[in-house]
Amino acid sequence: MPRTAASAPYPTRGVVLRSRPLGEKDRVMTILSPERGKFAAVARGARGPKSNLAPVSQAFTLARFLIVHGRSLDIVTQAQIENAHTHIATDVLKTAWASYLCELCDTVPEHLPDEMLFELLCVALARIDVAAETALAVEMVGRWFEAHFMDLLGHAPTLGRCVACGEKINIAATDTTQRLAFSPVLGGTLCQSCGPRDPQRLSLAVQSLRALRRLERAVEPPALEELALSTAARHDLRQCGIYSIAAF
Ligand SMILES: [Zn+2]
Repeated sequence: MPRTAASAPYPTRGVVLRSRPLGEKDRVMTILSPERGKFAAVARGARGPKSNLAPVSQAFTLARFLIVHGRSLDIVTQAQIENAHTHIATDVLKTAWASYLCELCDTVPEHLPDEMLFELLCVALARIDVAAETALAVEMVGRWFEAHFMDLLGHAPTLGRCVACGEKINIAATDTTQRLAFSPVLGGTLCQSCGPRDPQRLSLAVQSLRALRRLERAVEPPALEELALSTAARHDLRQCGIYSIAAF
């Protein structure tokens, strides 16, 4: 039978979000690609130590793939690693953050191309890979990713206004001590009168919300000296990120 256009191999770049064994010899990878979105593909023989596809089938790997459509799953026929992010796998903290970011990307629907999400993940993984091995440096990249991830999915929190009634929340730039009600469910800050509308609201320091806004606006993950996160702000951002992401 002549080969049809659908069975012709096609090239794509992609990041391996996760990888699991299939049978005794193969692996199934979940790949995030700028052209095809998230999709699953089989790397035949990748569990063999001598397989060319063994290194590329590891999570967090950025590679160029050549893929053919299979009956149920697509099949990787060739792959060339662009960045294996080798420092991530040797560091527990980096592995934990990279896994979390890949899990977030794994929540998007299949076959929905999003070039910006792909670029966001590439930048974050590359920065985590080369980050100095301090918890704060890696965490900064993770929080930057979270802020942009929420924004891309249309869930950026409303800051500076009340998410319930729209009233502007005025706080002097010199005021660094005020705390504000934040609703992960409603997706933003609440004014004093609307605060009781969400019994699960968080109380966040205004400095933490300012840090969140700077993370949202930063084109790249800020260096530690650019955005000094206090212990309190780190705690607030962790709460805010986890609850907001769980809420959508
Ligand atoms: Zn209000």
